[in-house]
Amino acid sequence: MNSSPSSSSSSSSANAKPVPLCSCDSPMPASLKTSWTSDNPGRRFYGCILGRSGCTFFDWYDPPMCARAKVLIPGLLRKINGLEKQVEEMQQEMQRKMQKEMRKEIQREMEMELELELEKQKEKLMEMHSEMLRKM
Ligand SMILES: [Zn+2]
Repeated sequence: MNSSPSSSSSSSSANAKPVPLCSCDSPMPASLKTSWTSDNPGRRFYGCILGRSGCTFFDWYDPPMCARAKVLIPGLLRKINGLEKQVEEMQQEMQRKMQKEMRKEIQREMEMELELELEKQKEKLMEMHSEMLRKM
C-alpha cells in the first residue's frame, strides 16, 4: 500500500514571517494578538497561545508605532466607538418605529376587513328581509 507520510505543506508566501514558537516546556506556535495600550494602540504582537496561564513569550509582529499614529489612533478608536453606539441606537429606534408602523398597518387592514364583512352581513339581512316580505 502507498503509505508515504503526507508532505508538510509549507505553502506560505515568501514574504510572510514564520510564526515563532513560544517558550513553554513544549513550545507551541505563538498566537497573534493586538495591543491596545496607549503606547502601542493597534500594534500586533506574538504571545503564548495559553495567555496568562502560559509562558511569557513576547515578540512584536508589527514595526514600532510612529509618533503620529500613537496620537491619532486612540482618538480614532474613541470616534469609532462613539459612532458604533450611535448606529446601534439608530437601529433600535428604527426597529421601534417599524414595529409601530406595522401594528398600525395591521390594525388598518383588520378594520377594512371588518367593514367589508359588515357590509356583506347587511346585504344578507336586507335580502332575508325582502324575502320575508315577499312570503307574507
Ligand atoms: Zn507558551
